[in-house]
Amino acid sequence: MERNIRKAAVLGSGVMGAGIAAHLANVGIPVYLLDIVPRELTEEESKKGLTLADPVVRNRIAQAGKDRLLKEKPAPLYDKANLDLITVGNMEDHLSYLGDADWIIEAVVENLDVKKKVFELVEAHRRPGTIVSSNTSGVSINEMSEGRSDEFRKHFLGTHFFNPPRYLKLLEIIPGNDTDPAIVDYMMRFGEFVLGKGTVLCKDTPNFIANRIGTYGLQISIQEMVRLGLGVDEVDALTGPVIGRPKSATFRTLDVVGLDTYVHVANNVKNKSADDAEKAVFEVPSFVLEMVEKRWIGQKAGQGFFKQV
Ligand code: NAD
Repeated sequence: MERNIRKAAVLGSGVMGAGIAAHLANVGIPVYLLDIVPRELTEEESKKGLTLADPVVRNRIAQAGKDRLLKEKPAPLYDKANLDLITVGNMEDHLSYLGDADWIIEAVVENLDVKKKVFELVEAHRRPGTIVSSNTSGVSINEMSEGRSDEFRKHFLGTHFFNPPRYLKLLEIIPGNDTDPAIVDYMMRFGEFVLGKGTVLCKDTPNFIANRIGTYGLQISIQEMVRLGLGVDEVDALTGPVIGRPKSATFRTLDVVGLDTYVHVANNVKNKSADDAEKAVFEVPSFVLEMVEKRWIGQKAGQGFFKQV
């Protein structure tokens, strides 16, 4: 392990970005956590006389990601002292932070075009040699790095953490066609020995390994629920503790993942599959799409299949 990751940057401060930043901070790595700049003031910001130019407003989304970490249930997951290693910022004013990071992790929304634009910005601001990775749930690593330089692609790979990063041990490592094998080897070891994860090497196929299987299981449970006329509580009772999954019954899992993200993840396989039977399995039922329309997208919105209290 010759390389040394002394500082990191995480792009996207949502469910995963904030959790990954906290995991890094917990092992003593200072992290920059950046998100987009809000386009509108909240009622509270207007009342305080703030404007869209105020730094506190411009960093609001990333700050909210950091603040959420201290409120997570069942108990505060992170020590405040460790979280002080996280510096928040935004994707317009603080891109120069990327030049200071040894590892840049992208954890923005699961959308190929958005991710590609982010990597264009990363390429313009990173130091040559910096490792860049995506936390995508299943978008192609090769497609995301199309248009980037050979030097960038050599240092680019997928590092797929699972939700919540604090508790779930798996870390999938996904090289692209051009990733330097030495970088892959280093990240496998770094994941194991520094981050405390169990690393698994994956091919760049839709949804890699765990999500390909996990999404299949979730889809079958949802489709069987509809076919048998069962309720959400009944399915969770059948797919949770009784089958040895203390916390991960079907609909509770979907609320933790985020229904919007889930739809993208299921579509990743459906859109790439040439097999009609497989396409049918990964077809998201319309009632889930309607929930996404209404923004009942799970824990992060306070309302999903279950209401957060
Ligand atoms: P999320 O919706 O909670 O957060 C996404 C964040 O990205 C938001 O804060 C949003 O403002 C920000 N964002 C959007 N465009 C941006 C841009 N151009 N620059 C910077 N930030 C931007 O999503 P999430 O659940 O944290 O997922 C993030 C990534 O991690 C996705 O690729 C997802 O597939 C993957 N992932 C999710 C889970 C899960 O269980 N939710 C698990 C593993 C991997």
